[in-house]
Amino acid sequence: MLRRSLTLLLVVSLLLSALSFASARPEADSVILLIGDGMGFNHIELTRLALGGNPLAMQRLPYSGLVATHSADSPVTDSAAAATALAAGVKTNNGMLAVSPGGQRLETILERCLEKGKAAGLVTNDALWGATPAAFAVHLGSRGEYAEIARQLAESKVQVMLGCGADEMKPKAAGGARKDDLDLVKALQGRGYDVVTTREEMRKAARPQLVGLFGDEAPSVAEMTEAALARLEQSKRGFFLMVEECGSDGGGHGSDPLRVVRAVRSLDKTVQVAVDHARRRGRTLVLVTADHETGGLLIDAPARAPLLTRATASAREIVKQFSDNRANVAVVLKERAGVDDLTPAELEKIQKASNPTEAVLAVLSARAGVRWTGQGHHTGVPVRVFAFGPGAERFTGTLDNTQLSGLIAETLGLGTFPKP
Ligand SMILES: [Zn+2]
Repeated sequence: MLRRSLTLLLVVSLLLSALSFASARPEADSVILLIGDGMGFNHIELTRLALGGNPLAMQRLPYSGLVATHSADSPVTDSAAAATALAAGVKTNNGMLAVSPGGQRLETILERCLEKGKAAGLVTNDALWGATPAAFAVHLGSRGEYAEIARQLAESKVQVMLGCGADEMKPKAAGGARKDDLDLVKALQGRGYDVVTTREEMRKAARPQLVGLFGDEAPSVAEMTEAALARLEQSKRGFFLMVEECGSDGGGHGSDPLRVVRAVRSLDKTVQVAVDHARRRGRTLVLVTADHETGGLLIDAPARAPLLTRATASAREIVKQFSDNRANVAVVLKERAGVDDLTPAELEKIQKASNPTEAVLAVLSARAGVRWTGQGHHTGVPVRVFAFGPGAERFTGTLDNTQLSGLIAETLGLGTFPKP
């Protein structure tokens, strides 16, 4: 009898420990965090409407919530404070990168992942020393110190870093912009990185560690993301990948609906790449969000948005084709912007404008039923978060941007984040 109950006890305790082991196994081991810089609610809606009205890939993800974006010192955040909140789970002042308002270094979720043996990657179509990628791996009181940001990135343990521009990685003598003699490209190569500058070079690169400093022949954000994932998925303990599409911010600052639609479409293609990868691989959480809204974009006439997909060139490229006396404005707008019924008032507005690009964008915005209320600045409205994969249900309701990294840490079993 005693022996039997002892055996039973043993079986029960074995079962219990097996159960507790199972529940201790994190739901996911990897995360792909996609950030549309400046991508407000209406940037997403405008793109959906422009493309015919079907939900975008990001809008088809099973869970979504709202994210408040204010910074420590302003109701309207900049990209540095917002990325710090997303990366480190702490509000800081505008302009600061992963340091507290008092200047204390803040651990980032990317750094926690590296510490736990995961791989990490940063992808952007902005410069790598732009505030959004920088706040995940750099600690600095000012986002404008590009040379120092580039130095910290080059010395980081991030395995894949893909972005645009090379200036801050090379000294003046080697064709760069650095005032010191540091050649960070050489240093990275010395540490085993492939350093590439074109889409073709990226395609041929074979090493697990990759830095992209792209110029005119930059790959798309989706292509960069594919290259990053091909490397990061080799990691046995999973990975953290941050991807930024910066065009929705640029579009918002420039009151440029063409650029907004192009950028959100580009990010959405990348969302599809991330979700396909996560489905194949499993154990991967995919998040799509923004750092803030830019431009105060309003949609007055949803039915008119498809006009924005008729343009075959950017506003700047369209204006470049104007003759000196702008006599050909109507012809160029017909050929390149799909507008074949320019009114005399619109024509005059563009012909007489001191800034013809702004005038073209104002005409196109009005025709597409789009209004800009932010005077080219960021606004303080909340942004969206969309989630897919294990743990995705955590990213619902009304959240603050400081909560996302803690919820990621919970899903990946990385302990309390940020540290109390
Ligand atoms: Zn901005």
